[in-house]
Amino acid sequence: MRRPLVAGNWKMYGSKASVRQLLDGVLAGAGAIPGEIAVCAPYVYLGMVEDRLRGSAVAWGAQDVCDRTGEGAFTGEVSGQMLRDFGCRYVIVGHSERRHIYGESDELVAKKFAAAVASGLVPILCVGELLEEREAGATEKVVDRQLDAVFALLENPADIGRGVIAYEPVWAIGTGRTATPDQAQEVHAFIRGRLRRKDPATANGLRILYGGSVKAGNAAELFAMADIDGGLIGGASLKADEFLSISRAAPGGQ
Ligand code: PEP
Repeated sequence: MRRPLVAGNWKMYGSKASVRQLLDGVLAGAGAIPGEIAVCAPYVYLGMVEDRLRGSAVAWGAQDVCDRTGEGAFTGEVSGQMLRDFGCRYVIVGHSERRHIYGESDELVAKKFAAAVASGLVPILCVGELLEEREAGATEKVVDRQLDAVFALLENPADIGRGVIAYEPVWAIGTGRTATPDQAQEVHAFIRGRLRRKDPATANGLRILYGGSVKAGNAAELFAMADIDGGLIGGASLKADEFLSISRAAPGGQ
């Protein structure tokens, strides 16, 4: 049985005051949620997040990580060890905004996945196609390519199981246009099938989240699908009540 995870991606939103308020709101309802919940905050707020969430039912993480481990002259970068120092459990790697706005390649994302695992973090690896790729029937090819880059770096294919995968169709992120449950399930099943050919036990245990305009009103029907194990939530994670409602919709969280 895979334990569902609902993770919030706060992106570049917030201030000290609004983060404090959001954390208080999430904490107020988190105890009643049987699934796992996590928030991925901007780096500068991780100290506050750690102070507030330590010992609670809510895990936390960052939205990106350096592709290198150890210390070094890498101005502007933040290592996995630094994130662990702030109690992070998760880190998002390969979010479509990193891939498409900042030009991160499949290979760089794969290195970040490996660096996160080496640092003891659980990477949330985002994969997903652009609208034109979906319309050209290339969704599986794109997702395959993004996963292949990670497998190419892993010594043991089972190490993919040390992370979480988030299927996030780029056309659904922040657009208000959600994949239908059937569209999402089709790609999730494809991903799990792809992993099963590498390592069946890992494939069965790996959590595959859906992300892309998930709201309280559509979460339950998405999370009810066989291969959807929770969600990565952007905009709706900035409102505590909405985020908690989504979290309650996760399987076993009713
Ligand atoms: C995201 O940022 O990963 C995301 C899914 O955003 P939204 O929920 O706003 O579409």
